[in-house]
Amino acid sequence: MASAPPLTDSFGRIHNNLRISVTDRCNIRCFYCMPETDVKFVQRREILDFEEIERFVRIAVKLGVTKLRVTGGEPLVRRDLPVLIRRLAAIPEIQDLALTTNGVLLPELAGPLYEAGLRRINVHLDTLDRARFAQITRRDDLGRVLAGLETVKRLGYGPIKLNAVAVKNLVEPDLVPLAHYARENGFEVRFIEFMPLDAQSLWDRGKVLLAEDIIRVLSREIAPLVEIPDRDPRAPALEYRFADGVGRVGFIASVSRPFCLNCNRIRLTADGKLRYCLFAIEEDDVKGLLRGGASDDEIAALIRRNVAGKWEGHEINSSRFVAPPRPMYSIGG
Ligand code: SAM
Ligand code: SF4
Repeated sequence: MASAPPLTDSFGRIHNNLRISVTDRCNIRCFYCMPETDVKFVQRREILDFEEIERFVRIAVKLGVTKLRVTGGEPLVRRDLPVLIRRLAAIPEIQDLALTTNGVLLPELAGPLYEAGLRRINVHLDTLDRARFAQITRRDDLGRVLAGLETVKRLGYGPIKLNAVAVKNLVEPDLVPLAHYARENGFEVRFIEFMPLDAQSLWDRGKVLLAEDIIRVLSREIAPLVEIPDRDPRAPALEYRFADGVGRVGFIASVSRPFCLNCNRIRLTADGKLRYCLFAIEEDDVKGLLRGGASDDEIAALIRRNVAGKWEGHEINSSRFVAPPRPMYSIGG
């Protein structure tokens, strides 16, 4: 139980969910996230070390954080990630520890991560087609991702979710095969509407494949999708199940149905900046405090200030929208 009042913002939203980016580096180059070449990575000494991350998490749990997701960049390229996972899994207040990965290194690392205490995993997979995988990620690694998924399934991870970015005029041929693959393997596929967080400013509204269009296709081609009414109201995904009883599909409809009103998340970037929203323009410098001799109370006060200043929601659907200065890989998706 938290020993202090919960992290509440000025709209009454309680924050118990922390996403930690452990690196801004990545071994592939998805076009909706990273540039193809000349990626500007943060210097290694600017990246929080494991002691700093664990200290921050231990302060955050005293403020009511119970859910952690480790992400990146690609978290599996961070050296000794299982060591960090073991340390985070040992924090008693953490009820839910999860990882988001592109899966390329899962064949080697799924075992050590499981041994370290990880059970929940989201694997990013947009397509089962090798050529389209290479077109999207600019790498030829589909085989490794599929082998990684076999491995996590064999080891007993659960739930295993697939994250697919929904880009119009690109991934339509992948919707049905991905959903079949997920149903056959007991995975839940979640379609994430393409958001304006790419490094090359390629996004525009016309490139977003909307949740409602995907629902229509899957309902027609596989089985009717039925919304699950009793889902966690704090979860960002709209959850559906196939009417034939086989499998679930989630939608993160940040563009067509933003979930800001229920948002319970804060984010720590790999270089130690605290953000109250994926799209935040401002951020607070946690690393400066961690490395400057600040007390736990001072860091807790910074977290409270950050949450207190949180805006009502992103403005993707308004003419006032300004894309954040950091692209996805540098924030931590
Ligand atoms: N590298 C890991 C991965 O790809 O899963 C973790 C970090 S990645 C930034 C987290 C998730 O962000 C990915 O699973 C991908 O689905 C999603 N993503 C990346 N760029 C996106 C964008 N522009 N719009 C929507 N989702 C995006
Ligand atoms: Fe790497 Fe993930 Fe970004 Fe793709 S979405 S480039 S895998 S960080």
